[in-house]
Amino acid sequence: MCCGCGACVQRCPQSCIAMHEDENGFLYPRVDTDVCVNCGLCEQVCPVLNVGEEQEPHNCFAAIHPDEKVRLSSSSGGVFSLLARRVIQDGGVVFGARFDDRWAVVHDYADTLEGIDAFRGSKYVQSVMGDSYLHAKQFLEQGKKVLFSGTPCQIAGLKRFLSKDFPNLITVEIACHGVPSPKVWRGYLDGKARGRNISQVNFRDKSTGWRNYSVVIGDCAKPHDDDDYMASYLANYNLRPSCFVCPSKNGKSGADFLIADFWGVEAVNGVKHDDKGISALLVYSSRGRSFLEHCGIDMTAIDVESVVRHNPCIRGCTSRPADYELFWKRYNKCPGWTLKRYGTLSMEKVIIRAKRLISRLVKR
Ligand SMILES: Cc1cc2nc3c(=O)[nH]c(=O)nc-3n(C[C@H](O)[C@H](O)[C@H](O)COP(=O)(O)OP(=O)(O)OC[C@H]3O[C@@H](n4cnc5c(N)ncnc54)[C@H](O)[C@@H]3O)c2cc1C
Ligand code: SF4
Ligand code: SF4
Ligand code: SF4
Repeated sequence: MCCGCGACVQRCPQSCIAMHEDENGFLYPRVDTDVCVNCGLCEQVCPVLNVGEEQEPHNCFAAIHPDEKVRLSSSSGGVFSLLARRVIQDGGVVFGARFDDRWAVVHDYADTLEGIDAFRGSKYVQSVMGDSYLHAKQFLEQGKKVLFSGTPCQIAGLKRFLSKDFPNLITVEIACHGVPSPKVWRGYLDGKARGRNISQVNFRDKSTGWRNYSVVIGDCAKPHDDDDYMASYLANYNLRPSCFVCPSKNGKSGADFLIADFWGVEAVNGVKHDDKGISALLVYSSRGRSFLEHCGIDMTAIDVESVVRHNPCIRGCTSRPADYELFWKRYNKCPGWTLKRYGTLSMEKVIIRAKRLISRLVKR
């Protein structure tokens, strides 16, 4: 059930916990029992052993970034960049997930407006936390404003790690379908690169629209439905096991905000929208509410149910496919074929394509 947040590693006073990849590529902590002094701090900070209370959001808003360039390079409507900008302008520090120079995903921090560009856009790979909780704690103790963004379990891990409330901390969780294995991502990328350097990666390229986004890897762009990595992710195969029993959703992380795609916006009266992306912003705390007043974002109040109805992952867990174990057994023997078999060549996808073809033929 470990979600891989790394809070135990960063909290251990003996530095005797390290993260190791299991055979499917997910990081899990391993303790050097010769050095461990049984202090129990690792268990105290674990968000899986200490699950928070469910909470209802205070308010919910629809918002878009006014700068079209920023909005188009964001996955949803770009509300993350608006929140982060405020903190940077107040002399603070923003934490988020970025690619490293080998396209692995890591957590990092930035204290400039240019620095937050790297956090923009969804990276569908579990990010490696490194020492980010320790760094955040140092900044908070120096009195700096800190915005920490990540998955709900990463926010829950941070909160447990800090173990006390800092009034200068703002936490922002993303709506979370779950995180894929870094090993599957590495393998997929290697197959695409074939020894060449990959110049760019964009999981949510909007040149084909926000709804029908494409995945861009190097000079290859594909509709997300036709990309094996993304298709097997959306079918829940390459997900971390903890994502099927998520400990941190539905307000349990204690985050101030949740940001999501506002799927289903077209069914809501009074919200202007196009196919360039729109964010839903759920506010869970009074600190979040007063911070928002300070941000000056042009927003429209909406009913939270209009967001959650089209975005089940905000409240509930992703369901585990019946043949999940078989996927991994096959993946570890034959990665490329298995991603295809459970991705673009899955029975579900083949049926969808057949239906599309038949309806085109009937229309003729
Ligand atoms: C693993 C994952 C699952 C998601 N599942 C859903 C979902 O079920 N429903 C939905 O509506 N939206 C989902 N999203 C997208 C999410 O809604 C958008 O990232 C969010 O709305 C922010 O969009 P934005 O336009 O404001 O800003 P953007 O600039 O697009 O968002 C950037 C933010 O995402 C964070 N981020 C990016 N990649 C990661 C990562 N690997 N781990 C942790 N944080 C990351 C950054 O730190 C930053 O805070 C998911 C994103 C990811 C990465
Ligand atoms: S019990 Fe204490 S010393 Fe042992 S691994 Fe946990 S935090 Fe480290
Ligand atoms: S979920 Fe618990 S055991 Fe797993 S990395 Fe986080 S703190 Fe450690
Ligand atoms: S679904 Fe839950 S356990 Fe999985 S990454 Fe998201 S927040 Fe963490």
